[in-house]
Order: sequence, then structure tokens, then C-alpha cells
Amino acid sequence: MSGTTDIYARLSLDRAGDELGVQRQVAACRKFAAEHGWTVRKVLVDNDTSATSGKVRPAFEELLKSDPERMVVWHVDRLVRLTPDLERIIKLGVNVHAVTAGHLDLSNPAGRAVARTVTAWATYEGEQKALRQRAKNDQLAETGKPYKCQRAFGFERDGMTIRDTEAAELRKAADGVLAGRSLNALSKDLNQRGIRTATGKTWRTTTLKAALLSPRNAGLRRHRGQVIGPAAWPAILDETTATALRAILTDPSRSKRGPDRRYLLSGVMTCGKCSGPVVGAFVKDGNKGETYRCQKIHVTRKAAPIDEYVLGLVARRLAEPDAADLFAAADHGDELAELRDELTGARSRLDGLAEAFAAGDIDRQALAAGSRRLRDRIATLEAMVGALAVNPAVSEVASAEDAAEALAALPQDQQRQVIDALLTIKLMPIGRRGADVWEGLDIEWKGSK
Ligand SMILES: [Zn+2]
Repeated sequence: MSGTTDIYARLSLDRAGDELGVQRQVAACRKFAAEHGWTVRKVLVDNDTSATSGKVRPAFEELLKSDPERMVVWHVDRLVRLTPDLERIIKLGVNVHAVTAGHLDLSNPAGRAVARTVTAWATYEGEQKALRQRAKNDQLAETGKPYKCQRAFGFERDGMTIRDTEAAELRKAADGVLAGRSLNALSKDLNQRGIRTATGKTWRTTTLKAALLSPRNAGLRRHRGQVIGPAAWPAILDETTATALRAILTDPSRSKRGPDRRYLLSGVMTCGKCSGPVVGAFVKDGNKGETYRCQKIHVTRKAAPIDEYVLGLVARRLAEPDAADLFAAADHGDELAELRDELTGARSRLDGLAEAFAAGDIDRQALAAGSRRLRDRIATLEAMVGALAVNPAVSEVASAEDAAEALAALPQDQQRQVIDALLTIKLMPIGRRGADVWEGLDIEWKGSK
């Protein structure tokens, strides 16, 4: 097939503070184009730009200008969330191929109708979200509470006043990172001293990393995912520290071999005898060194060969064409929780409708109309949840051209997330020494039924 092909990617909220999301989209689009034998002419990327904000998206404009024969996008909502945007694309007569949602044929009336429906729903999503937020804020304002219900670690509830004890912890953790300590060790230290996050949870490497990279703590204001300038509140971390932290914590080679080397499969495996967790432990006697064992020491195995074996296994499986089937729901995030919430609401409204009909409160026609609307809505929400329910580390590996390479390039904690999302590993006691590494390893793919 000939003709020009352009890729368009967009990240609406740059959560991790890096471009990972966009790179993932681009990688998936490239793969999709390659599979169809299309040569990619241009890759156009809008980072941190919301398509509902009405702001100009430079790459999107460039895309319209360059007028390709076809566009490849991750999902249609990356390209158009507003009907006017769609109409501009329809005018071009370009074909849109979405990696996740299939081909949008804009050359015939039926295809355009589908596209307009999808976009109408996307617009509805955006407006609903804004409405919900406004209603929430109005309600909070009426009760005199601040808009943001969630306090940020290091600040008082007003979001303006520094909470000195917590700010000191953040500075201490920052110093630790600059001194070469791992996030894992630092979060353990916080937890051991009884310090909790703003929501009262124990620290994890991910939450600590997010706190250390947060623009808020560097005295910067973010609006709709974009740093827009100095904030009205004071900074907890000075500019030099914040910059150094960013350089260290966003370095992809980080945490492969830090001063506190962590065990790849620590907490991922369980003991075949007691079902307890198997964790990494350094055993001094018997020349064992780094091992995995359960708390009751039913099993003790050298760590390195098991790590190597499991990594190889996952990498090979990921290279197979149907690997996508393995990516069952893994890590979620707030957006997903919110969608799930809404989905539950829509389902219970559907039930309520049936009850109202049974009670004679509404007639058959109203029931039919109402349930059709709700069913459509539920289907949309289900699709959105499905699209989201993938661990970012997992989808990064999945969308890479060379999955083995991508997995190897991930920091160890993310490799662990990938393995944990895909595999159930039981470590069985084995009697003899010198056995092959896979002996005693009882491994199951979570996605397979
Ligand atoms: Zn055990």
C-alpha cells in the first residue's frame, strides 16, 4: 500500500513528568503502521495539551496542514475530542486508523456517522468531568472547605502553608537521593519511622518519587497538567535540588544497580509449601549469597539464575503475536477508579429503571428509551476502562518493537511490576543440589485461562 502516513500522538496529562506516555503511543502506532506495510512520513506529537481546553495543539495543526493520506493514532480520543476538530479532519478526507479502536473510515457516510458518535461521546466525557468537578467545588465552597479535598504532603490543607515536619522529611529524602540512596531504602526508612503520606498510607517508591518530582514542592504552579510558572506558595525544595532530582530520578538507567540493590522477584513469588511471600535475602553461610526464601525457610534458592530465567521467559512470551491477551488489568490510577465508579452508577441506574417500570412509575417506552441510552453509556465506559486497565510499564513493554530489549531497559521495580502483572510464580522446595533452575519453579501466566 502506498500513500503518505503520519502518526499523531497526544498526552493529556503528563503525570510522571516525562514523555513516557507519548513514546508508548508512538511506538504502538509505528508497530501498527509497520504491520500494514505503511512507511511513516511524519510523527507529530502534542504533549501535555488537553484537546477539550480549546487551546491550540501545534502538532495537530501541523497534521492538518500536511494532509496525509492516512493517520495512525493510539485512540481516536487522542486525535479528536471535539466535534469541530473532527469536522476539520472529515473535510480533509483522510483515513484515521486507531491502534486500539480500529479503522475510522471517513470516506463514506456510515464511517463519518460512527466517527461523529464517538466524538460526541468524547465531548460528553469532557463536559461531564468538568461539570462534576465544578459541582464538587461549588459544594466545597459552600461548606467553606478548600477546593482540593486532598492535602499534599508538605503542605497544610490550604495548599499555601508549609507543614514544617513534612517539608523537612521531603528535604531529607531529596538529600538521600542526591547522596545515591535508593527510593526503596528511603521509603522504607520513612515507613519505619511511622511517617505516612498525606492520605495516611505507607510510602512506596512510586509515591515518594512523585512527591520528589512534584512541581508543587519546587514552588511551581501546574494547571491542567502543565507547569505554568512560579506558584503563590513557597517552595519546599530549592531550584537546584529540584533540577538535580529530576535529572537523577528520570534517568532510565537508574535503579538497575544502586547501593541498595533490590531483588527482582522479591514479593512476586510465593512459597509452594506455606504460600507465604518469598523475598530476597542475603545468606552469608554456605556460599549462597543473594537468595530467595520464604519467612519459614522452606525454600532457599540462589536469586540470580531465577531472575535471569524468569526475565527470559517473559521476554520471549512478550515477543509472540498474541501477547496482548496477557495484559489483564494490572495497575490502575485515579482515572480508572473514577470511570469504574461511574460505570457502577450507570449500572445501578439501569437497575433502578427496571424497578421503576416494575413499580409502574414509568411506561414501557420510557423504559426502552432510558435503558438504550444507559446501555450505550455503559458500553462506552466499559471500553474506556478496558483501554485504561493496563500497567504503564506493561504497555510500554508490550508496545515496544523489541519487547525483550524494552523489558531489560526498565528499572527493576518496573520489571517487577511487569512480571507480577503477568505471572504467578510458586517456589517449590527441591531436595537435591545442582538442579536445573526451572526445577521447583511453578509458573503460570495470569492471562491464560
Ligand atoms: Zn514457606
